[in-house]
Amino acid sequence: MGAALCVLAFVLSIVVTTADSRRRDSALPAAATAEPTTAGPPTTVDPATTADPTPTAAPTRTVRHVFPVVDEGAVSYGRTHHGYPATDIMARCGATYVAPVSGIVHEVNRVDRYDPAVNDGATRGGLSVSIIGDDGVRYYGSHFQAIEPGIEPKVRVNAGDKVATVGRTGDAGACHVHFGLSPRCADGDWFVRRGVIWPWPYLDSWRAGGDAQPRPEIDEWLAANGCPDAPTVEP
Ligand SMILES: [Zn+2]
Repeated sequence: MGAALCVLAFVLSIVVTTADSRRRDSALPAAATAEPTTAGPPTTVDPATTADPTPTAAPTRTVRHVFPVVDEGAVSYGRTHHGYPATDIMARCGATYVAPVSGIVHEVNRVDRYDPAVNDGATRGGLSVSIIGDDGVRYYGSHFQAIEPGIEPKVRVNAGDKVATVGRTGDAGACHVHFGLSPRCADGDWFVRRGVIWPWPYLDSWRAGGDAQPRPEIDEWLAANGCPDAPTVEP
């Protein structure tokens, strides 16, 4: 009995000691953070983050657009495209392709692996660049002759920055840019990346100095279709 009490008292003393040390431990960080920090630069705050705490929930957030091919008088495009919505912007070989919006470079393909005997949708674009605009829309251009040095995934570009020169790599008879608008779905999803809504109304606007925003139409498409994991029209 006496021994049991003794054990109990011992256990209690351990519990109290442990709790006490925990209190002391938990008090330490608070005391440490209370120390005034004299060294180091002030914390930088991203103004965009501060202004809009939920950027992904702003479907009509407006961004500035630039017509993506420098117009030297020989740029043209139609209002149709075979198979699925996209716009082929015809231009001279070597014309300049610029970022249509400010954003982050997503995928870059610098090697032309297209083989007409295989005709694979994944390689049909030849040299290509996709950019996730600050509006969340994916802007894709392909068939380039060359891609500018430094245009790599995760690099930031500003609207109007030179990205590539117009060419005819991949499945392209004449020099042109295949231009596609899509939501960002999976990496490497060429069948979405190549385009899901018609770009020409937006191109008309940007070329005329307007600033039509594709984000609302992209959101509608995504709500209706989700992110397909395979081609939904001819591959
Ligand atoms: Zn095309």
